[in-house]
Amino acid sequence: MLAIAGAPMGVRLKALDPTERAPASIAATQVVGSFRDKAAVKAFAETCDVVTVEIEHIDVEALRELSAAGVDVQPTPETLATIQDKYAQKVHFTNAGVPLGPYADCPNEAALQSAASEFGFPLMLKSKRLAYDGRGNAVAKTAADLADAVAKLGGFEQGLYCEKWVPFEKELAVMVVRAKNGETRAYPVVETVHENNICDTTTTPAPIPNKVAEAVQAAAKRAIGSFTGAGIFGVELFLLKDGSILLNECAPRPHNSGHYTIEGCACSQYENHLRAILGWPLGDTSLKVGGAVMKNILGDGDGDEAMGRAHRLMGAALATPGASIHWYEKPDMKLARKMGHLTVVGPSAAVATERLDTLLRAASGDKT
Ligand code: ATP
Ligand code: MG
Ligand code: MG
Repeated sequence: MLAIAGAPMGVRLKALDPTERAPASIAATQVVGSFRDKAAVKAFAETCDVVTVEIEHIDVEALRELSAAGVDVQPTPETLATIQDKYAQKVHFTNAGVPLGPYADCPNEAALQSAASEFGFPLMLKSKRLAYDGRGNAVAKTAADLADAVAKLGGFEQGLYCEKWVPFEKELAVMVVRAKNGETRAYPVVETVHENNICDTTTTPAPIPNKVAEAVQAAAKRAIGSFTGAGIFGVELFLLKDGSILLNECAPRPHNSGHYTIEGCACSQYENHLRAILGWPLGDTSLKVGGAVMKNILGDGDGDEAMGRAHRLMGAALATPGASIHWYEKPDMKLARKMGHLTVVGPSAAVATERLDTLLRAASGDKT
């Protein structure tokens, strides 16, 4: 999607990806190699004007060496290092004055016990590194679950921390683009709905009061303004019953909660990422439609039958006004894998939601 956004601006992308004929090769020139392998990253970077990432779980040391050797790496390796450690990210945001729920480092049993007695239950235990789609999270409902939660995440030696449970009313997200000179621009606020810890749908604008939306954008801009380097960032937040907000985490790259910007906004998250890392003027982040909903096409099984269901979903989308399909051409259909997404736009978020509901019913064979 980044390469597709670059094409009309004359920006050509090269992608380093370990899988032969990776999805990126649809629009970018692919170099087959691992982004966790220092030598591969360095050899790849030598052929580029600017190096950026679309996954934070990369070899930051390699990027630091590149940066020291004069390669333009955006966002900066320092920013990527902070964000790829979710605990370091929390500490960074505390220092930047961003609203967060209580959290604590859990290097050992004693630290975990003391955090548990302070925060109570349920308690959210998290891996500091390599987390995505909730795979680095474990919930302890009572003290008796703590040992299992630690074991599920591979033990204390993996690097764990915990968070007080946040009884959120809604989950919100907002994309923020940061220019090399530090200018930040926020996109509209999105409501995200997760199923089994994976983003399922997003709705924009989020159905929240304007004042809350403004506070969310201000907190997100403060968070991203506190980093160095340029690029697009996804910011995830919790909205509480009393209208207050807490930041959950951020990602230093285009984000699932910003997919709707392709059809929904004047300048998409992808175009703005390229503008930012190239040092070009940032684009207009405002909505160009009344409302947009995004639905991920998640594998609901392995193999051909699940593929058939995904195809029916896309077929129904093609017959729906305001709907667009994005198919990632990932090699295999797998349970819970993000295979693509649909975006439906309309004169309002309510109309877009109605169109999506009709489409989903049609795809499931329900004619009512
Ligand atoms: P992503 O795929 O967004 O990177 P992740 O694996 O990094 O996800 P988190 O965003 O930390 O995981 O958590 C996943 C989901 O778990 C959140 O979207 C939210 O629904 C829930 N969650 C996370 N932290 C808490 C908390 N402290 N209290 C309650 N629920 C939480
Ligand atoms: Mg995450
Ligand atoms: Mg998350």
